[in-house]
Amino acid sequence: MSIQHWWRRVALGLLFFVAAAGSDLAGAAGSPALKIIAVNYPLAYFAERLAGARARVVLPVPAGADPAFWRPDARTVGTMQKADLILLNGAGYEKWLSQVSLPRLKLANTSLGFQDTYLRIENAVVHSHGPGGLHSHEGLAFTTWLDFEQAGKQAQAVADAIVRKHPEWKSIVLENLETLRGELAELDAELKQTVAADPRRPFLASHPIYQYLARRYGLNLKSVHWEPEEMPPAAEWQGLQSMLKDHPARRMIWEAQPAPEIAAKLKDMEIESVVFAPCANRPEDGDFLEVMKRNVDALKAAFRQEKRANSVISKNPNP
Ligand SMILES: [Zn+2]
Repeated sequence: MSIQHWWRRVALGLLFFVAAAGSDLAGAAGSPALKIIAVNYPLAYFAERLAGARARVVLPVPAGADPAFWRPDARTVGTMQKADLILLNGAGYEKWLSQVSLPRLKLANTSLGFQDTYLRIENAVVHSHGPGGLHSHEGLAFTTWLDFEQAGKQAQAVADAIVRKHPEWKSIVLENLETLRGELAELDAELKQTVAADPRRPFLASHPIYQYLARRYGLNLKSVHWEPEEMPPAAEWQGLQSMLKDHPARRMIWEAQPAPEIAAKLKDMEIESVVFAPCANRPEDGDFLEVMKRNVDALKAAFRQEKRANSVISKNPNP
């Protein structure tokens, strides 16, 4: 790059910087953008949608890790202390919260508004997810955002927290909130309609994370405790067989595509695998809403296919 080019770049960059600082994007003249830390991806996505370029949203959890079983190291706690706003999921999601010191005024527990309807996890089992060590899902169910009405309330709480910090952004943040809640409400209506077509139909879940989804949409769901990448031991398969006796499901819902040998073994039992990704961490492709749309479509397809299979059976009754 020639010196001349270099200078042109610097000058252009400066011009852009001055223009951006003067515009609404950087907030009131001279004030820095809002620094937001979100403890999971759904909250980061809501903050990004609501504040746009006004905020710098950071999800401190490494890619691929489950934010529910992550804990911040000392350095991350330091970053959190310097942030303007820390978005929490609540419902026991942040098990590390009592062990760190964070400024109370910066914390926003986004599910506090519906804390009286939190669910408890039944049959907690100690197990591990990859190299993270043993853990159990005991206490409160925390995948609150898979009930899209609750997700809308959490988005509202994020909006309120942003507006508390920057009241001058109120009208634009509330406008963005309305759009986002509209999109969540569409998914909500679609799922309700899908399940209402046959609410007694039994489904299986591979992991106990779908409590709020099942409650909101009336899904007849029973859960085992499997991992997509680990072949369950023989006792688990026997357990599944006995579960099927009074819960004859033909679909198992997974967080991610199960390993081919697990999917094949399930298929031998006439159980198809359906992916409904909780999207707790940033997805490899698409965003929160796109992943949720794929989830809803997958569940809709499962209901449709099974209906077709049943109608073929009823048209050709065995003599
Ligand atoms: Zn687990």
